[in-house]
Amino acid sequence: MARKPALADCPCSQGSYASCCGRFIDNGNIPATALELMRSRYTAFVLRNAHYLKATWHPDTLPEDVISEDDVKWTGLTILNHHHDIQDDIATVEFIARFKVGGRAHRIHEISHFERMFDAAGQHRWYYVDGTFPEET
Ligand SMILES: [Zn+2]
Repeated sequence: MARKPALADCPCSQGSYASCCGRFIDNGNIPATALELMRSRYTAFVLRNAHYLKATWHPDTLPEDVISEDDVKWTGLTILNHHHDIQDDIATVEFIARFKVGGRAHRIHEISHFERMFDAAGQHRWYYVDGTFPEET
């Protein structure tokens, strides 16, 4: 096991790590909304926690490698929008995530798609499906 850094503030900027994304990533709580899941997945990218990213990725779209080999340093998350279609149990979260590679600043503007379904243990939970990038059109 890799040594876990002690985190006071959650990387997603919503309070202490333990009360924010830590309860999902480390304690197995299930995010009630796609927005909570999205935040915790951002935090998992910061922590390079491939296990959590795979566990929350829709099996139909799960890639082989969930974490890039590049030395990506995530620097911030801004949520722009969250929409839950209750009828179909799908949701979208629009966000901007900032990161640096080799000292150069970049940003991703993504609309992530989520679907809620039952896992093998019969738990109703959200999964990340895929994303679209409104600035790449
Ligand atoms: Zn968080």
